[in-house]
Amino acid sequence: MIRQRGRDLRLRQIERKPAVMLVNNLIKDLLKFLKENEGHSFFRDVSVFTSGSYYELVKINKPNEFDIMLKLKTPQLTWMALEDYNGLFYRVSLCRSTRSEIRSFLLEDERTISSSKVIKEMQRLVHKFMNTHQGLNRVNSPAVTLAFKKHKDDDIELSVDIVPALEVSQGWPEAARSGLDIDKWLGKKARRKFVSRPVYFVPKRPKWRKLSDHEKESWRISFSHIEKEMIMFHGNKKTCCETKPNECCRKLCLRLLKCLFEGLKNTYPKELEPLCSYHGKTAFFHNLSQRFEDSLWTPGQLSHCFMRLLVDFEHAAQIGSLPHFFIPQFNLFSPASFPKRSLLFLANSLREQRELGLPLLRAPSPTPALCCTPPLQLQSEEISQQQVTLRKNDTKAFVICIMIFTCLCINLATIFTESDLLRLYVNIYVYFLTNFQIN
Ligand SMILES: [Zn+2]
Repeated sequence: MIRQRGRDLRLRQIERKPAVMLVNNLIKDLLKFLKENEGHSFFRDVSVFTSGSYYELVKINKPNEFDIMLKLKTPQLTWMALEDYNGLFYRVSLCRSTRSEIRSFLLEDERTISSSKVIKEMQRLVHKFMNTHQGLNRVNSPAVTLAFKKHKDDDIELSVDIVPALEVSQGWPEAARSGLDIDKWLGKKARRKFVSRPVYFVPKRPKWRKLSDHEKESWRISFSHIEKEMIMFHGNKKTCCETKPNECCRKLCLRLLKCLFEGLKNTYPKELEPLCSYHGKTAFFHNLSQRFEDSLWTPGQLSHCFMRLLVDFEHAAQIGSLPHFFIPQFNLFSPASFPKRSLLFLANSLREQRELGLPLLRAPSPTPALCCTPPLQLQSEEISQQQVTLRKNDTKAFVICIMIFTCLCINLATIFTESDLLRLYVNIYVYFLTNFQIN
């Protein structure tokens, strides 16, 4: 079943190609619009951060959802980690005061960059852009979403989450320096290469608690450019997935996990609200850095690898510990980031899924019918199917027993009567019986 689901997901990947082209064109138009825009020139100089095949699947069952980062040009930045967040959220400021366009997005101290002002302006610009394009527009905080249709009558809607990002090129914050445990998996050289890359701040606030004014203007550190690269070039050896014989099942395992998450979230939207695909991605990276050898991930081992990943994730939920892959001090399952009640619910529903044979992974997409069907009912259906099969097998065995018994009786009769004709009949009968049994 896991392998079959993996094959379905591969096909879906191919179906996405026309959508990717459409999104690429739309982004090109958006950049042109921003460049020619008469308002704040701060957004005139943006550049796209993700493009072409680098698009990451945000949602598996909704392959028309995309995620894109727009890099904003800023003067040199300085940052301060927010207390209680172990290096995930920051207050980001300019090193020195400036007269450039960014001034309109600063707080009263004229140094700190306001994340809420940046989002607001991004939303305004995207809204304006959408008015010049056919389709509909929906705005989602913190990312700004472009939602549109190719043709007016199309059922399929494409949506692109646009995330503005600030680039920091003068080294990683302290908290991130001890993370990224990839020495055994991708090698020390790769780690050095990644650490020399810039990091980004995106206007995302902490969740699940009442925020102070400071926290409302905070930025979250993002390593998504490195994450994308690690997923693309994921092999212990450079040859991994280069040719058919060197294929592995790592990416498919992540997609299957995301698929299960979507099923879970569709079934229990309220209880599992804090769960997001980043939890799965983090568990996946930890898994890859521990099981680093390519030989452990051959396509034939897909089911085994996926179950290992799932069991590891379930264990992390049980003990309430999922360290951020780049900032190990930040626990994504700490009570402040993932409410305890939801975590307990998650651990229980993962166990239930595993024990019932992953019913949520079984359906090609989480249809409404599945959402309304409690997993226990699925289990009873499975059991009754098994019972039917057992009954059929019992009848078959009974018929064969009767035939063997008859054969023995006739054999005994031939010994007593010593009739050659009867013996011939018996041999023909045995011949047909053997064939019947084989069939
Ligand atoms: Zn591979």
